[in-house]
Amino acid sequence: MPRPILATIHTSSLSHNLLRARQAAPDAKVWAVVKANAYGHGIERAYEGLRGADGFALIDLDEAERVRRLGWRGPVLLLEGVFEPRDLELCSRLGLWHTVHCDEQIDMLATHKTHQPHRVFLKMNSGMNRLGFTPQRYRAAWTRLNALPQVDEISLMTHFSDADGPRGIAQQLAAFQAATQDLPGERTLSNSAATLRHAADPAVRADWVRPGIAVYGSAPDFPEHSAAHWGLQPAMTLASKIIAVQHLLAGTSVGYGSNFTAEAPLRIGTVACGYADGYPRLCPTGTPVLVDGVRTRTVGRVSMDMIAVDLTPVPEAGFGSEVTLWGRAANGTVLPIDEVAATAGTVGYELMCALAPRVPVVVAE
Ligand SMILES: *Cc1c(COP(=O)(O)O)cnc(C)c1O
Repeated sequence: MPRPILATIHTSSLSHNLLRARQAAPDAKVWAVVKANAYGHGIERAYEGLRGADGFALIDLDEAERVRRLGWRGPVLLLEGVFEPRDLELCSRLGLWHTVHCDEQIDMLATHKTHQPHRVFLKMNSGMNRLGFTPQRYRAAWTRLNALPQVDEISLMTHFSDADGPRGIAQQLAAFQAATQDLPGERTLSNSAATLRHAADPAVRADWVRPGIAVYGSAPDFPEHSAAHWGLQPAMTLASKIIAVQHLLAGTSVGYGSNFTAEAPLRIGTVACGYADGYPRLCPTGTPVLVDGVRTRTVGRVSMDMIAVDLTPVPEAGFGSEVTLWGRAANGTVLPIDEVAATAGTVGYELMCALAPRVPVVVAE
């Protein structure tokens, strides 16, 4: 029998979350962002749930090929554009739309031989300072692109640094609007946080929104808001089983470093899941976990293949009992991935993306 750990990708939750993004940005088209192998869910596994999107946005050219191989004929956008001239050949061949964020990418386009002019998304650096032309240099880049026979249509794009927090988007939005005022073309500005929090404003939802994390059922602005607050459902469940039961006496410890000591007798379960499965080693004692769908806590240090959980709230549980590390338990109870991530000082994004290759994955309704 295989080790009893399993990740499940929930197709109906992906579709549901995509719909939530649509409702938050009425009339806008929706890119389902599937970079990083659909945030660890697997592009092929997530496809069925996300094929209702208007397009797929991603980074690796290999991922773009995989989306085309799945039969997707609609828009595919490379969020970082091309990395070298021959990438443009793939764009021509597969009909990929690509971001243009620097002069070097315009140089590559200018020497690219193609019969099919490209659709490009010209990126503005409106304050994130990662990719893009500053507002001052944006128009010159647009003019240069517009003069190229290799370029067909130019869309306008920027990315917010603080859509999830109190700084908000006002400054970046104003910079983008001022510099693009009289330029033609479709616009796209909003990631999940901007879509959920700010897209009631038509200028923010614009023509396309680009939700990633929300589609996978994690709240971009946790803990201010939970996934439930936004009506999002977990798209990934990580589950395992109890493979041993121990009885700690008062004053005895569990795990490496003996960093948890029982104050009173304590019944604990050993779970077949550890950091080599993608469960964060930084999760301290007290990290929430479900046993048979009942909320309890981890105790002691996470090891490579195992963690220990307090069985006090589930006296009936024992060898073989269901353990939900995040996602949905068999009884329907949800343990938000964001809560687990927060105890480890990180975000749901990182946990999803770090699901280890050794964990078997199934796709479910
Ligand atoms: C990753 C990414 C997104 C999606 O961000 P989320 O926070 O996951 O919604 C949108 N736009 C760009 C350019 C990205 O790189």
